[in-house]
Amino acid sequence: MNTAENDVDIIIAGGGMAGSSLALGLIRQVPTLSVAVVEATTIAPSNLDTDTYQPSYDARATALGYGSRLIFEDLGVWPQLRSQATPIQHIHVSEKGKPGRTGMHASEHQQGGLGYVVDNQWLGRCLLQALQGTPVNWLAPGKVISARRENDRTHLEVDLNGDMQQWSCGLLVVADGGRSGLREALDFKVDTQDYEQHAIIANISTSNPHHGTAFERFTPEGPVALLPRGGSDGRDCGLVWTHRSEQAQELLEMPEDEFLGKLQKVFGWRLGRFVNLGRRDSYPLTLTRVAQPARPGMLLVGNAAHTLHPVAGQGFNLALRGLMRLAEQIRLAHAAGNSPGAMSTLQAYLDEHQPDEDAIVGFSDSMVRLFNEGPPMINGARDLGLVTLDLINPAKYWFARQAMGLGRRRSSLGAADSTTQAH
Ligand SMILES: Cc1cc2nc3c(=O)[nH]c(=O)nc-3n(C[C@H](O)[C@H](O)[C@H](O)COP(=O)(O)OP(=O)(O)OC[C@H]3O[C@@H](n4cnc5c(N)ncnc54)[C@H](O)[C@@H]3O)c2cc1C
Repeated sequence: MNTAENDVDIIIAGGGMAGSSLALGLIRQVPTLSVAVVEATTIAPSNLDTDTYQPSYDARATALGYGSRLIFEDLGVWPQLRSQATPIQHIHVSEKGKPGRTGMHASEHQQGGLGYVVDNQWLGRCLLQALQGTPVNWLAPGKVISARRENDRTHLEVDLNGDMQQWSCGLLVVADGGRSGLREALDFKVDTQDYEQHAIIANISTSNPHHGTAFERFTPEGPVALLPRGGSDGRDCGLVWTHRSEQAQELLEMPEDEFLGKLQKVFGWRLGRFVNLGRRDSYPLTLTRVAQPARPGMLLVGNAAHTLHPVAGQGFNLALRGLMRLAEQIRLAHAAGNSPGAMSTLQAYLDEHQPDEDAIVGFSDSMVRLFNEGPPMINGARDLGLVTLDLINPAKYWFARQAMGLGRRRSSLGAADSTTQAH
């Protein structure tokens, strides 16, 4: 046991997609801040030669909205990220057995891409590489065991690979994911709604090129999303196939040809034949929110603060906007001589972020409900929804802006929400 207390401005518990992005945002906003990241796995900016595969940087691909691209440009990560990012040129939304369908095209929105698909592992590598050589103190493998607020400091007990250490900070940011152990240990109240669905994810190849099209197909079992990977002429896609929870195990264990045949039946032949299937994983789907994610000296962010259904691919995009808002509020507090953990700092962040969270949670949740089930009237409405979406430009424009992560104005780093031309 190391009894000497290490003191820093901010400690981030969890160095996944959210925690690493926040660390970068913070040192960019206030280079003099002292920041430590406590990460449970062995990944670290200093040992990128080891496999970055871990719970956050796993086999999934993430659809980044155009707004997230702008943020990563500001953070200096985009030049590397883009080298293996596939632009989404078109979004094709349809429903199995129904006439409705809609399409959105990057060219209609004066953007180089409606969004970009990146493999989580690549995103992790780029984030960690950007942290190399920065003053961020990366503590791994480690876990925050306990935290308490006393005399305007948050005091932590950190288990660093068996070595118990005492740390203190102005603000503890909890970014340890959707099954956040720390959130529970600190007794933050969680509101969870189980969708009783699992997402089966896998990388998959098709006989025809996707031409940068992302597909979202609603079926009675749940939505099927195919995200384009491997460049615009690629034939690889990231599959996110939502199913009722009781069917998930069967799909995971099903022989490959049977799985591909079943998918073909549901998705059709828009991309030709499904030919290759990578490793399958499954994720339980819930809508989780924390009514009070802040208290003096402590804040929940990322999946620890909210998990969404992946139907609209918004969870990380939303989290990233929030993290940059937080970094901006911490910059303002720092300039005014206030603590990053002061309730006034955290409340200013929440005032900016929560309307965005409410809108995106509402958008994702209503998509799940609209297409999941429902009496004939709702069925009629959703047919009409897809058809009219194609006809009524403002509705389509709104939908596309949500999909691009441009739904609300960004207030912090870099360019504001606009129709910036990009290539
Ligand atoms: C199937 C699926 C598809 C998705 N697709 C998209 C998409 O296309 N677009 C999008 O925007 N979002 C998408 N999301 C959401 C996105 O994956 C999440 O928003 C994102 O992973 C959240 O990152 P996080 O860093 O908060 O949590 P996590 O990714 O869970 O990372 C948590 C980190 O904390 C570490 N950790 C855990 N416990 C501790 C501890 N006690 N101490 C220290 N460290 C700890 C872990 O090792 C990990 O590094 C999808 C989600 C799912 C399930």
